[in-house]
Amino acid sequence: CASSKIVPLRCARVGLMETQEGSGSKPVIDIQGIDEELVEKIIYDALLWSSLHGLVVGDKSVQRSGKVPGVGMVHAPFALLPVAFPENHWKLACEVAPIFNELIDRVSLDGNFLQDSLSRTKKVDVFTSRLLDIHSKMLEMNKIEEIRLGLHRSDYMLDEQTKLLLQIELNTISASFPGLSCLVSELHRSLLKHYGERLGLDFKRIPSNTTVDRFAEALAKAWTEYNNPRAAVMVVVQPEEHNMYDQHWLFAPLKEKHDVTAIRKTLAEIDKEGELLPDGTLLVNGQAVAVVYFRSGYAPTDYPSEAEWRARLLMEKSSAIKCPSISYHLAGTKKIQQELAKPNVLERFLENKDDIAKLQKCFAGLWSLDDSDIVKKAIERPELFVMKPQREGGGNNIYGDDVKENLRRLQRERTEENAAYILMQRIFPIVSPVFLVRNGICHKDHAVSELGVYGAYLRNKDKVIVNEQSGYLMRTKVSSSNEGGVAAGFAVLDSMYLI
Ligand code: ADP
Ligand code: MG
Ligand code: MG
Repeated sequence: CASSKIVPLRCARVGLMETQEGSGSKPVIDIQGIDEELVEKIIYDALLWSSLHGLVVGDKSVQRSGKVPGVGMVHAPFALLPVAFPENHWKLACEVAPIFNELIDRVSLDGNFLQDSLSRTKKVDVFTSRLLDIHSKMLEMNKIEEIRLGLHRSDYMLDEQTKLLLQIELNTISASFPGLSCLVSELHRSLLKHYGERLGLDFKRIPSNTTVDRFAEALAKAWTEYNNPRAAVMVVVQPEEHNMYDQHWLFAPLKEKHDVTAIRKTLAEIDKEGELLPDGTLLVNGQAVAVVYFRSGYAPTDYPSEAEWRARLLMEKSSAIKCPSISYHLAGTKKIQQELAKPNVLERFLENKDDIAKLQKCFAGLWSLDDSDIVKKAIERPELFVMKPQREGGGNNIYGDDVKENLRRLQRERTEENAAYILMQRIFPIVSPVFLVRNGICHKDHAVSELGVYGAYLRNKDKVIVNEQSGYLMRTKVSSSNEGGVAAGFAVLDSMYLI
């Protein structure tokens, strides 16, 4: 958990900080400069705005807050002011979003590539193995997904030294915060509209954020392609979900603007209530399902028994559009990310040389643990690497001395277990002082930020119906913390101030 403490606020000047390196202004907003009384006012307004506009999550200290909407709500953790971000990098991240969407689609169609790349991982990672089993079954059945929907989020950090925007990962399942990210951008715009002049900041430099509308539209278009007016969109949820408002924000426009009904079901419920009609239609409690949107099912804990795996298989066999399908899910694993970063692999999936070059520029160093030179280097300089298992949701990676210890252990034991991990170059983003607000309390701390760019992709056979950049999420975490999840308690929601 973030070990931030309350630091008394000091008064000085605001604006963009000057750097001593002579390269112009350093891209951070100088919060040291803000008058203490002004900060208090902004905090109060921000907390009020969040409550009035639904920038909220379930309060874990209140029973039922993860089950019943309207019970035990607390503002989502947020950064008080947006983080400065260079416009050229933002543009680049937007530009590559449709290329990544297309790449995931192409990779998803190459069943052998997915199976082969993950074949060694399969032997040592039970969870990935179960996903691969479902994938194999679909290959055996010759199951063809003609309508494919992806709602992705590609995450980046801007490496301070090289000034490169490097991809952390691409999430193809349960990419969170399409709803709340829009609200944080609105919160910051609203604060700067009011206080911008005093802070020396212009609210127009915060890009407006449309993820919710774009994702709702993509879901609605997928529903239309499915072409059954009586069918619903089904959100696969965890039994307890403190981030439910983020999900509800996405389904409100679906209902209001597009008149599409959404139902929420857990994997266990789908197992109990689900059935397949002979034509492949998925019925859950008698309700036909056009689109299955997963906000669960990405972690081993989502499958406490065989019932949940049965539900996953049932959905996969059905004709419903899965967001993601098992192939899209696997295409988003860290092992596949590492395989795609190898020389000449992108060329298997993409033709356009410029597109390939653009993606490759975003790739950080990624290695398999078979690479003994890299393993040796990582043991010598573990602080320059991150060791990652095939997991999602934050809190799973290995850093620092633990990298060394784990690599040594794997060498000693000579197990196959090394196939469960990949090694990644550690990225060091710029550290800047920020105000983080959590539970109504403002902490000042040094922090780093991670940009997520949402992408939507929908196709029906040869027709690409949607392929776009849909919006963004900035997450800011104290620099002393390795991990970055907001729900996991490491980070806060943020937006960006273009410089
Ligand atoms: P998950 O799927 O669990 O979110 P990530 O690959 O995104 O896994 O890693 C979780 C967090 O760890 C990221 O949000 C980021 O803060 C940090 N992280 C991951 N990879 C790196 C890296 N190469 N360099 C620095 N930090 C990283
Ligand atoms: Mg992830
Ligand atoms: Mg992540």
